[in-house]
Amino acid sequence: MHRKSDVIIVGAGPAGVSTAFCLGNSGLEVTLIDKAVFPREKICGDGLTLDVINQLALISDELAASFRDFSGKLPCYSAEIFSPDHRQFSVAVRPQQEERPMYTCRRSGFDYFLIQQLKQFGNVSIFENCHPHSLGIQEEKVLLEAGEDTFEAKIIIGADGVNSFVARELGVTRITKEHQCVALRTYYKGIQPLREGSLIEMYLPEEILPGYLWIFHLGDGSANVGVGMPATVINSKKINLKQCFEGLLMTEPLKSRLEGALRQEAVQGYTIPFGGLRREISGNRFLLAGDAASLVDPITGEGVGNAIRSGRVAAMHIIKCFKADDFSGMFNKAYEAEIYRRMMPEFRFHLKLRSLLNHPSLLNYIIGSAADYPSVERSLQRLIWNLNVNKLGPRIRLVFNLITIFTLQRLFASVFGLKRKRA
Ligand SMILES: Cc1cc2nc3c(=O)[nH]c(=O)nc-3n(C[C@H](O)[C@H](O)[C@H](O)COP(=O)(O)OP(=O)(O)OC[C@H]3O[C@@H](n4cnc5c(N)ncnc54)[C@H](O)[C@@H]3O)c2cc1C
Repeated sequence: MHRKSDVIIVGAGPAGVSTAFCLGNSGLEVTLIDKAVFPREKICGDGLTLDVINQLALISDELAASFRDFSGKLPCYSAEIFSPDHRQFSVAVRPQQEERPMYTCRRSGFDYFLIQQLKQFGNVSIFENCHPHSLGIQEEKVLLEAGEDTFEAKIIIGADGVNSFVARELGVTRITKEHQCVALRTYYKGIQPLREGSLIEMYLPEEILPGYLWIFHLGDGSANVGVGMPATVINSKKINLKQCFEGLLMTEPLKSRLEGALRQEAVQGYTIPFGGLRREISGNRFLLAGDAASLVDPITGEGVGNAIRSGRVAAMHIIKCFKADDFSGMFNKAYEAEIYRRMMPEFRFHLKLRSLLNHPSLLNYIIGSAADYPSVERSLQRLIWNLNVNKLGPRIRLVFNLITIFTLQRLFASVFGLKRKRA
């Protein structure tokens, strides 16, 4: 069958669905295809930060309201961070943001929730279980072959994840090892959060720095347990990540945390494409969004927020393409520029900050100080809240000023015997 529309989006994850959502009621005919049938599994940590919630609200108030009513998620008001020497520091959401916490939510449920929201738009056609096998860009159109069908449109969006078929078919350069993270995850049953409302636990064992190991609680005693580490560090330290992960789960503090809990499935691995490197994410009649464009935070491994953000930006750009009747590589450079304008400062800052995570003694010192001294804990908490300021220079100064403040506070406290939380 020959199916003609204005826009083809390949991939119905957060990037593809948000592009389609922002084109809902635009007057353009949109075809969204995915090889999976929803609800489908997605290897992920199942953590949704405030950025995700903000992005949904920026798409539409109705979408944000539907998400508020969506019962498949759990609110999380704080995260527990463990230093290499097992000291613990709690990061709470800002007091004024208690109404808008982070969430944990199985991706199968979240992505299914998102795709269902598209059903309200008459101009968006969804094709699941659709496996594209060839893609060609012609002078006036894009042609995508999938099974017996040929899909034709003016422009195509590759929102099909880290191993993007669209990027591959169009010969876009693949991401290098420097910008890849290898991540593993499994599910456990029979483990409870350390405190009520604190669903996120991040462990920083020396072996895997600057990566981390996580336990994200999903309710009813279930938890997503995983590990992520930059590919270059895995290579240079000659680590077998799976063996290392299993070893860490059998040593303290993880051993006690998982005591009595049962693993629900085999460990599964996937690549996370870190942001921070400018690469080709647009060209003649195509744009890449989400993981296909490598837009994941290089410290935390969060990619859902940026996938949605890039979907929004892609949709705004597509509308401009149709207005100008210009789908050329040159015109589409504006999309690339806008993506990097919005995201690159954060990526670059986080890449710099990540180098601090290579120093276990520094982490022991900072987290240990926060664990011991309430004043240091408050400063560190404020530092984390303020890390999202959008100016690189002040943020770097802030980090170093606060490290100096911790040091002085600690020195002062030890000399004058100020209040310590623990003996
Ligand atoms: C182990 C792990 C833990 C993570 N934890 C978190 C976390 O806690 N929080 C967070 O924010 N991010 C996390 N991430 C990153 C996050 O999962 C991704 O950044 C996010 O899913 C990107 O969304 P996307 O829409 O770009 O791609 P995806 O979610 O990967 O969606 C791509 C879609 O394209 C479809 N597709 C793929 N190939 C084809 C094809 N050839 N034809 C048709 N369809 C195709 C797939 O079926 C899929 O539905 C984690 C990643 C990993 C690997």
